[in-house]
Amino acid sequence: MTLVTAELVHADDRWERRHGFVLQGGRIEAVGPPDELAELYPQDDREDWGDVAVLPGTVNAHAHSFQVLLRGLGDDLPFLRWRDRVLYPFSERLDRDAIRAGALLDFAEMALAGITTAVDFFYLHDRGNENDLAVVEAAGEVGIRVVVARSMYDWAGAPKRYQETPDQAVRNFRELHSALAGDGGAFAQPAPHSIHGASPEMIQAGAALAEELDLPFHIHVAEGIYEWEMSLERHGVSPVRFLDSLGVLSERAVMVHCVWVDPDDLALMAERGVRVVHNPGANAFLGDGIAPLREMLDRGITVCLGTDGGCTNSRQSVFEEMRMAALLAKAAASDAGALNAEQALRLGTANGGTALGLPVGRIAPDHAADLVVVDLEHLSVQPASTAPKQIVYAMQRGAIRRVLVGGVPVVEDGHLTRVDEREIRARVAEATKGWEPPGAD
Ligand SMILES: [Zn+2]
Repeated sequence: MTLVTAELVHADDRWERRHGFVLQGGRIEAVGPPDELAELYPQDDREDWGDVAVLPGTVNAHAHSFQVLLRGLGDDLPFLRWRDRVLYPFSERLDRDAIRAGALLDFAEMALAGITTAVDFFYLHDRGNENDLAVVEAAGEVGIRVVVARSMYDWAGAPKRYQETPDQAVRNFRELHSALAGDGGAFAQPAPHSIHGASPEMIQAGAALAEELDLPFHIHVAEGIYEWEMSLERHGVSPVRFLDSLGVLSERAVMVHCVWVDPDDLALMAERGVRVVHNPGANAFLGDGIAPLREMLDRGITVCLGTDGGCTNSRQSVFEEMRMAALLAKAAASDAGALNAEQALRLGTANGGTALGLPVGRIAPDHAADLVVVDLEHLSVQPASTAPKQIVYAMQRGAIRRVLVGGVPVVEDGHLTRVDEREIRARVAEATKGWEPPGAD
């Protein structure tokens, strides 16, 4: 066991000065003032980390790792044109090595930005689970925790490699889930794509798997106005109410986006206990709109944060999303009190752990020792006396000196410890050789 002290510690949801915690076997054993811990653990090793702030590793509850390879190809296009001219055709070009290269780049950027758990909502399923396992390998190489939200997609208009029948999707999910069982670094959770990408049968199959295996399930909901209009036209109700009519809304539902929701939808979401992944940067980048974050929180809905894909944001940092969430909530409400720094930090850490059902996102007993160590001497967090606000609103990536996952450093002194950056660049160059952005129509 190791008793660590530091200048600032975000201990179980509060900032404390000159505070401590005890690490054991990749987990947090205890948290408290250093002298109390010293009495409780007299024989154990001591480490003083000095003039740093230690906070929980951030949780990126929604991303699509391979999309980082598409960065720059379709920026500034409206969503449906981006999907049809960039996402669909370019995702057809990726073989297993390219998928792994994309995941490696995406996870490397995330680790450097202080993300210790990432959800990869993954849907290139032409080879059963082979491509999913390439993503898991890449996460292992970088050293971050990954949740493969294994997509279930049966809309016939999508590329063939995305599509499975409900039976195939259920069988393949079970196989991936058992392959990763007992792996503390990689997890599988079902993810029926959306009401436009998955049939009602597929969505219900995903929710049933979650129920049976005691897992959350992920689904894109009401990201753009097109889905709202489509739902009203086909089903006569909003996307949220349509999902409720399928009987799938519960605490297991991790609903991604929820930009186009009305007050009745919000009331229903609160009643069912669903969780929401807010992706403010991507929603703004794609012109989808601003999700009603303040209203969700006022109704007691658990909201966490996601970066979304690396080509629709295009920064892979939950600290960025905390700042975006706060700024957009303030702007939308014309009220600087609409979201404060402490709430934004909670969205990017503890709430992510709650939504994913994993013991991450808090420096608290029985939680993983997934930590971000911020240099309190870095100019972007000055004056250090008010650093907790700066960490959300002002901090630049250079202030993130160390990142630990399960107590093991994956970033030291601002650099990856396990993967060589030159090798990542070379693999990405190989994967994207000869690619050109599509011409104007
Ligand atoms: Zn997405």
